[in-house]
Amino acid sequence: MNKKIAIIMCNDMHMDIERSNILLNYIVQNESYDIVCDYTIADIVIIQTCAFGKNKKYSLQVIADVRANVANTCRVIVTGCLVCVNKDALEAISEIEVKSFEEVVNMFKKAPIALYEQIIPQNKVIISEGCRKNCSYCVYPLIVGKYKSKPIEDVLLEVEKLHETETVIYITGAQETSDYGIDLYGKPSFPELLQKICSQFPDCNYIIGWFHPAGLTEEMLSIIEKNKNIIEVMLHIQHVNERILKNMNRPTMDFTDKKIQKLRKVRPDLVISTEVIVGFPGESQEDFEELIMYLSKGYFDDIGVASYEQVLGTKASVMEDQVPEKIKEERLNIIQNVFRACTYPTSKSYNMSVIEEYIKAYGLFKNIPRNILNNRQKYNLIAGVDTKTKTEDFEECLKEMYECVINSRSEFDFKRNKKYLKEKYTLEARTFFYHVLKNGNFKNAIKQRGKELLLDYF
Ligand code: SF4
Repeated sequence: MNKKIAIIMCNDMHMDIERSNILLNYIVQNESYDIVCDYTIADIVIIQTCAFGKNKKYSLQVIADVRANVANTCRVIVTGCLVCVNKDALEAISEIEVKSFEEVVNMFKKAPIALYEQIIPQNKVIISEGCRKNCSYCVYPLIVGKYKSKPIEDVLLEVEKLHETETVIYITGAQETSDYGIDLYGKPSFPELLQKICSQFPDCNYIIGWFHPAGLTEEMLSIIEKNKNIIEVMLHIQHVNERILKNMNRPTMDFTDKKIQKLRKVRPDLVISTEVIVGFPGESQEDFEELIMYLSKGYFDDIGVASYEQVLGTKASVMEDQVPEKIKEERLNIIQNVFRACTYPTSKSYNMSVIEEYIKAYGLFKNIPRNILNNRQKYNLIAGVDTKTKTEDFEECLKEMYECVINSRSEFDFKRNKKYLKEKYTLEARTFFYHVLKNGNFKNAIKQRGKELLLDYF
């Protein structure tokens, strides 16, 4: 009878799906095994772990859950990034086997496989593995080792296959795209690869993932300018303050800003998304505000944010001036709110800065207790008791209402938020808030949305 195998993976990393696909290809090729979804009936469970942030905790939880729910005879095999950074700790856990990915593949490999089938479908083509950049906060280069690119011909074959079913294909390295080809062709060859993809498969749209600003060469800019089917670049700037960038071992902002402006000029329609880190060691309030102000220029259509994590083995983990967790969390929250405001559809045109409004609004809310005290008689509102749930913190009530207004982007959000606000707040409280919104420095679209959402207007 065939052995049953279950694979549990961490979906967060691109490489994980890629690796799962490679593994599944070998297992499917090997007739001694069957793949099952329910790990409790499996003879072998393979857990692909992740060493990044919250995923690390999740991976450990998965190992504990699996051990508790499988039969005594079941082999629990743990592989993935956590094995690279915490091998000793994992080996101390009883009843599991700790293996490298290659060791796991070798358990099932019968013959080499030329082009992997995407058994777990994804509209991604992973063009390389590893990173040569050594950002001081990142553990990835330590985990994955040398940069390894796929040959151009192999990437083209993968795109050819995917483009039969997909209209948008995500072209990315895991984890870094701009150094593509340096190991195979002796020079960064991503522009050449991208041009070939766009020329040979022009009927598809492309998103470039994990792109390091250093890769924005003139050649790269001209390819993006020429090929309008490149619709998005995920350009991770991480920060804007020069001192912080230097300590992060990232390119200067002077360099990156010039390239972003040029990119915006040649392709105003291009979606540029980014990621930033808050709370890096030594980040002062001024540095943080400098970051906010840069983001508020509206160059980015989508902004992801992470709070700095002190990861053992990285240079940044031993830097002085680690930022307290509470401050990191506050900064994360602020940017997350900015990010949500930023993705409101009216911000599609990059010079129309909804972010700026949010910042003004945020400032307004900071001062709100004083405003309320001055105005509440006028609006006949008794602060802190005018919600149906008797919330005590009036500032929180107003912040909540504001977030409902700014985040009601779809019809679905709109209905849900309206229902929620009506259930929670009296008409009087909502009317008061509407006056704050109406008299504040907000764009008319937001005022109008606030009116429809907060007042009984239909
Ligand atoms: S470029 Fe990305 S993957 Fe590479 S070291 Fe920097 S943060 Fe890590």
